Amino acid sequence: MFTLKSLPYAENALAPHISEQTMRLHHGKHHQAYVDNLNKLVEGTPLADMSLLDVIKASAGQAEKAGIFNNAAQVYNHDFFWDCLRPADQPMAVPTALLEKINQDFGSLEQMMSEFKTVALSQFGSGWAWLVLNGKSLQIIKTANADTAFLHDVKPLFALDVWEHSYYLDYQNRRGDFIDAVLNNLVNWNFVANQAAL
Ligand code: MN
Repeated sequence: MFTLKSLPYAENALAPHISEQTMRLHHGKHHQAYVDNLNKLVEGTPLADMSLLDVIKASAGQAEKAGIFNNAAQVYNHDFFWDCLRPADQPMAVPTALLEKINQDFGSLEQMMSEFKTVALSQFGSGWAWLVLNGKSLQIIKTANADTAFLHDVKPLFALDVWEHSYYLDYQNRRGDFIDAVLNNLVNWNFVANQAAL
């Protein structure tokens, strides 16, 4: 049985940038539904006893296992996504080593955020934008629907959910405003630095 991972903060901790109502639906309904659907789909199969990441690897690219892949990858992506954020009332500086790496690979933090926004805005329809380590270089990539950067030979450092359910209640069609609000106010830079081993 897979279970819904608890949020690492209260449902209202990201407000006003992401509302409590959005979190209640996004974590409590959408994320929960991926967990419930996955459990139904793997029940009685060898996949039921595998780790979540192994289920993702075992179902990736197989048309007959698309439902399993989509739900498993979405569980994994959301588990990671919540860890990438921090409460709005806990300002956090970018750790020095990470900032130096960002400056080296993008020129500045502002430039990195600008490129991240461009990539996140360019994801047509549902998907994810990611800051990753590709080899030794920081890179920004996007994935469609449930696809996860964990399958693309990169080390994910930060993820942003750009499915409409992530922002529509708070920002309607203004995905760019949602991206700005998260990047400027909610990134758990310590988590990002830890992921990068910096
Ligand atoms: Mn989502």
